[in-house]
Amino acid sequence: MPRDLTGPDARGWFGPYGGRHVPETLMAPLEELEREFRRAWRDPAFRREFESQLRDYVGRPTPLDFAERFSQRVGARVYLKREDLCHTGAHKINNALGQVLLARRMGKRRVIAETGAGQHGVATATMAARFGLECVVYMGRVDMERQALNVVRMRMLGARVVPVTAGQQTLKEAISEAMRDWVTNVRTTHYVLGTVFGAHPYPMMVREFQSVIGREARRQILAAEKRLPTLLVACVGGGSNAMGLFAPFLRDRGVAMVGVEAGGRGIRPGQHAARFAAGRPGVLQGARTLVLQDRHGQILPTHSVSAGLDYAAVGPEHVLLHELGRARYTWVSDSTAIRGFETLARLEGILPALESAHAIGWLLTRRAKLRRSDVVIVNLSGRGDKDVQQLAERRLSGIAGG
Ligand SMILES: *Cc1c(COP(=O)(O)O)cnc(C)c1O
Repeated sequence: MPRDLTGPDARGWFGPYGGRHVPETLMAPLEELEREFRRAWRDPAFRREFESQLRDYVGRPTPLDFAERFSQRVGARVYLKREDLCHTGAHKINNALGQVLLARRMGKRRVIAETGAGQHGVATATMAARFGLECVVYMGRVDMERQALNVVRMRMLGARVVPVTAGQQTLKEAISEAMRDWVTNVRTTHYVLGTVFGAHPYPMMVREFQSVIGREARRQILAAEKRLPTLLVACVGGGSNAMGLFAPFLRDRGVAMVGVEAGGRGIRPGQHAARFAAGRPGVLQGARTLVLQDRHGQILPTHSVSAGLDYAAVGPEHVLLHELGRARYTWVSDSTAIRGFETLARLEGILPALESAHAIGWLLTRRAKLRRSDVVIVNLSGRGDKDVQQLAERRLSGIAGG
């Protein structure tokens, strides 16, 4: 199995990254969570329930869709893994389902979550409604204004959305607030973390729940092309859609992997979220990883046109994959991502999430390097309906000369 190629080891380390850097009060709950997850993941009844909900409720397997016109444009055979067709419109539901099933199994009546763009909050509120659990979502006040529609969706699903007003009032502060809630209410509450980040066992657990993406894609590409892909491409926020695609291919040495981060307005402090371009090792919110920080260790502000990639740290397993040379990490700017969005819309009739549009935009820049014989799988992590308003406003202000 590929999963022990990069770990984590028994203490939750991916080489020198990851670990469990939390207050004393959270050590026992994290140990319990790890124990319960390992037990559930080995239990055929739990796996059957997870798989049947993925099939009938989430809508899996998602198609592996050959993109003919886009392929002609970039000069390689490009397949899209259509996570945009999942219930609620992105891959986040795979993980939210797994964790809510686990919470129920552990006898927890209440789940909490952090959210930036609102996609993970919506996925968690959705699964909580489905299984009758109380749900509280922490969201920065600035993000609540930017993503007002997702706030309404979460409330319609019965969740309580709590505005967080500390600091930059965005995702980082929302995570801190969710951790504070968890410390206080850990007996009744499970914290549904939204990506391959945080303290052990979250990076491992979220990877396992998301690996359904790569397991399906592997089977599907073998059926379609009778061979493995030459290249996998995914955008990287915390890194869960990328890890979910990459994990089942890690042992296949001929399969190259590229993670695309948010280059925002360029690699200058505060203008991007490209941790591999400008981050240094540090500890943030439970994990040792690459962090965007100043020389005093203060966390730098970040910027991206896509809220889902807009975070100062990255999942620790990706940092190890980078150091091992197993995966490569790069970035594209806001404007290249928008070009990716517009190109996929025109050539394939698909509006991708602005996050996923980073992976598409990067491929557009690779035209000269790709070969006709290359078989590429792009993880289309989500759909772009949520971004239409933002792009329309951008366009209007562009026409007005702004
Ligand atoms: C949240 C989100 C991402 C970024 O999160 P990862 O954990 O890096 O996958 C990417 N795409 C979409 C559509 C998202 O909602």
